[in-house]
Amino acid sequence: MKNRRKSRQREVILKVLRNTDSHPTADWVYEQVKKEVPNISLGTVYRNLRLLTEAGEIMELEFGSTYSRFDGRAENHYHFRCDVCGRVFDLDMPVMEELEDRARQAGGFEVSRHRLEFYGRCPDCAGD
Ligand code: ZN
Ligand code: MN
Repeated sequence: MKNRRKSRQREVILKVLRNTDSHPTADWVYEQVKKEVPNISLGTVYRNLRLLTEAGEIMELEFGSTYSRFDGRAENHYHFRCDVCGRVFDLDMPVMEELEDRARQAGGFEVSRHRLEFYGRCPDCAGD
């Protein structure tokens, strides 16, 4: 019974993340999950986000800032973060393999993954 409750909590957290492309914080996820699981705690949400990240079901995005954001899209892709509004957008750029090949060629490295983020102003914020 206890295990069933745990996996139900994790399912709802995963569903919330899969249904948004806003790359939310843990607090936002918590507010959404509470609508379906009213007695869940913020600590439980954090713990499950960690477990889902470790399992490769979701991605944690750090952006070197105060708090992490989470991404329900688990396959590697690039992001653009707006310096003005703080929103994080997906970038679909077909250059991942090429960049990893270049890194291999640059030093004979065995490349397993890479991260790349872009910063600037989004279209909504750029026109002032
Ligand atoms: Zn913006
Ligand atoms: Mn993303």
